Amino acid sequence: MTTMAPHTDAASAAPFVEKTPLERYVAPEKPSLVGVTRAQLAALLGAVGVPEAQRKMRVQQLWHWIYFRGFTEFDQMTSLSKELRATLAENFTLARPEVVAEQISVDGTRKWLLRLPGEVQDKGIGERPHEVECVYIPDTERGTLCVSSQVGCTLTCSFCHTGTQRFVRNLTADEIVGQVMVARDRLGDWPGGTRPSDGVIPTGDRCVTNVVMMGMGEPLYNLDAVRDALLIVADGEGLTISKRRITLSTSGVVPNIERAGAEIGCMLAVSLHAVRDELRNELVPLNRKYPIAQLLEACRNYPGVSNAKRITFEYVMLKGINDSIEDAKSLVRLLKGIPAKINLIPFNPWPGSKYECSDWEQIEKFSQVVFDAGYASPVRTPRGRDILAACGQLKSATEKLSARERMALRAMAMTD
Ligand code: SAH
Ligand code: SF4
Repeated sequence: MTTMAPHTDAASAAPFVEKTPLERYVAPEKPSLVGVTRAQLAALLGAVGVPEAQRKMRVQQLWHWIYFRGFTEFDQMTSLSKELRATLAENFTLARPEVVAEQISVDGTRKWLLRLPGEVQDKGIGERPHEVECVYIPDTERGTLCVSSQVGCTLTCSFCHTGTQRFVRNLTADEIVGQVMVARDRLGDWPGGTRPSDGVIPTGDRCVTNVVMMGMGEPLYNLDAVRDALLIVADGEGLTISKRRITLSTSGVVPNIERAGAEIGCMLAVSLHAVRDELRNELVPLNRKYPIAQLLEACRNYPGVSNAKRITFEYVMLKGINDSIEDAKSLVRLLKGIPAKINLIPFNPWPGSKYECSDWEQIEKFSQVVFDAGYASPVRTPRGRDILAACGQLKSATEKLSARERMALRAMAMTD
């Protein structure tokens, strides 16, 4: 049963409590080769009888077909013998997560609801699938894919819709890579592919140019899978999205920040949102475990950090909560000496949220202080608000329970 950190007035004094997972991963009967590392692929080929001397070459060939060409059938892979193609088809698939819904915003943002293997068993309620959302944000010259790392989130940030959802499970590396594959499939973003005729598509030769781990979940609580997946996404012979165009956003899992830098080497974004521990304890309860000073120390030591590779600090603008000019001044003082960018994010409301977005005038004043301190301070324009695809609005249908179901769950929680 889900256990959640209480959000009471005394919450900042309360210990930090994480939600526990509801379900474990249930592997599909036939594994997909999408999202396995090169070493794992070689081992899987060995298991179906490919002689060791051939494995390296076969891995190269498969890698090209899977990630460069985007093929979904082994039969299309003409450099492999018919026999090997048949063996592969017998034992594996090239499946991606199943798209169960697609929504396109008036601004061209696309949101896909993806169904993953496994079912949540809620006593008395029945089964519901594991689902996550993945969002594509096109611009004139770039297309950013916002990827999820968990079904739900163990954390309970008070302004985030995902935080209200139960934590179901971590995604596997293939499910994370699978989101990039699905997006490229849907956008015809493979050599010779046909682009959609509706919506906004960037002008260059690629639709997905950037990846941000800013969907559902806390990527640093699923670091091994996120690492394996991002190294596949960045691989120069496959999906080739450079590490400078991949950003991992964390709410501040301090012990894993260094590992992320050393093992992945992508860009880092930190969800700061408050300049005082007292307030951050409320907004980002993980702060009770890893307070601001520890978090900023980890940022100072992030492997590879430099003026050319700055850390992005995200700051959600909450009316009357964290948006004063004093806060802006403290923010720039706090970040002194850290190669940083500051991203001010207008709060995206969701049904039942208890905050309001700061007034535009206040955001401009706040941003002026940040700008005067020498930071370019772009205010991130909310995208896809009409389809609840903007930051912090993601919440999969797994969680869309009826009032009756919710009551039943609460009743069970009390009797457990
Ligand atoms: N768990 C990670 C990554 C996913 S959230 C993290 O917290 O960093 C991606 C970003 O959206 C984070 O900066 C998060 O704080 C922000 N966010 C969450 N809810 C939001 C909301 N309702 N409006 C605006 N930004 C939000
Ligand atoms: Fe989880 Fe990030 Fe939402 Fe916090 S902001 S609840 S860490 S997804």
